[in-house]
Amino acid sequence: MGERQPTDDDRDPSSISIAEARERVLGALVPLDGGECIATGEALGRVLAATIHSPIDVPRFRASAMDGYALRHAERESPLQVVGRSLAGHPFDGTVPAGACVRITTGAQVPGDADTVVQQENVRRDDDIVHVTTLPEPGLHVRAIGSDSARGAELIPGGTRLAAGELALLAAHGLTTVDVVRTLRVALFSTGDELVEPGEPPGAGQIHDANRALLVALLAEPGVTVQDLGICPDSPEALERTLDAAQGADVVVSSGGVSVGEADHVREALAAHGQVDIWKVAMKPGRPLTFGHARGGLAFFGLPGNPVSAAITALLFVRPALEHLRGLADTRPPPMSARLDDALRKRPGRVEFQRGILSSDAEGRSVVRTTGLQDSHVLVSLQRANCLIELPLDSSGARAGERVTVHPFTRFARAPL
Ligand code: AMP
Ligand code: MG
Repeated sequence: MGERQPTDDDRDPSSISIAEARERVLGALVPLDGGECIATGEALGRVLAATIHSPIDVPRFRASAMDGYALRHAERESPLQVVGRSLAGHPFDGTVPAGACVRITTGAQVPGDADTVVQQENVRRDDDIVHVTTLPEPGLHVRAIGSDSARGAELIPGGTRLAAGELALLAAHGLTTVDVVRTLRVALFSTGDELVEPGEPPGAGQIHDANRALLVALLAEPGVTVQDLGICPDSPEALERTLDAAQGADVVVSSGGVSVGEADHVREALAAHGQVDIWKVAMKPGRPLTFGHARGGLAFFGLPGNPVSAAITALLFVRPALEHLRGLADTRPPPMSARLDDALRKRPGRVEFQRGILSSDAEGRSVVRTTGLQDSHVLVSLQRANCLIELPLDSSGARAGERVTVHPFTRFARAPL
């Protein structure tokens, strides 16, 4: 077969869709059981093991939402004598009698018998006498007990990744420990006789291993530890030894050696002891996706060797798998659409993920442009990008000015809130 023209169809009848591949992967993985109780100070990024209900009312007392005066609504039209102060942390000691009000600050306890707070801009004060100039609705600026969260109500659902918002909630409820899903252990190695460590001088025909650095950065996070098993030479025996070393992990991720070349032993080595499949997934880059279980039921991903293909298959399949294993609910924002700056070409038959740079134009509308050469060995196409541009299966490219689907890299990242 000669070089195909860019307009040729790239369909392969034995390919499965991305959705089906993801379904097969997730369907074969059982979420971890077992959690651990840790200090909330250590819990950023961990996954909540079970739903937490509010142990207390927050706020615990009726609190003022404004700096102003606390009064009885029924007396809003009378001159009111200021009989004391309620400051945050220093409540007024007593109730508010008829004909009176209390100076109050934001967050301070509203005294008994007062039901309304008038902000200070809406009164006229002469010495100790206050006249309300803008009449309030009853209950104005009084935060009800439990109005943030009521005791016993669901506070944070199980499966939530604990971020700033959740850690603040736990603290506000006085909680210092939390039950989280246990740490997931990923074992990682690269295959290839051509690979040397970045610190070592490459011999003839050798290259530095880029994929371990890439995949550690993409996969390791709080709650996921990555055990680095190094570079594995292209021999069945070396693969056996590396897989032995991976026992004890929950998931093994390798890169390279999954094609059908003569140095590609990953599938055979695994199939000897477990169940491993190579699927052609109708996507580019990353058509051969290897997934299965090695000896001892160890879940296994064999990613393509080209770094860009490894990155995209890790984002599309491995990260969702790790999230599924950790029981993490999918709360990622949806993909978005942007106007394409350059024309992009592709062959129909595969969904293509090109690397793009998303920005906004002078009117604030989203625009995306390509990072240039898209071959799967071109790592700078990934490094310069801040998003993936998804081109549909049947398209043969997109014209400049067309709207395209983009996946900002922040969709794959941990949420700050
Ligand atoms: P393979 O899938 O093993 O045939 O590898 C495909 C291409 O990716 C080859 O050009 C490899 O040299 C390259 N490659 C494989 N593994 C790595 C790696 N860890 N870092 C950089 N390039 C790699
Ligand atoms: Mg190889």
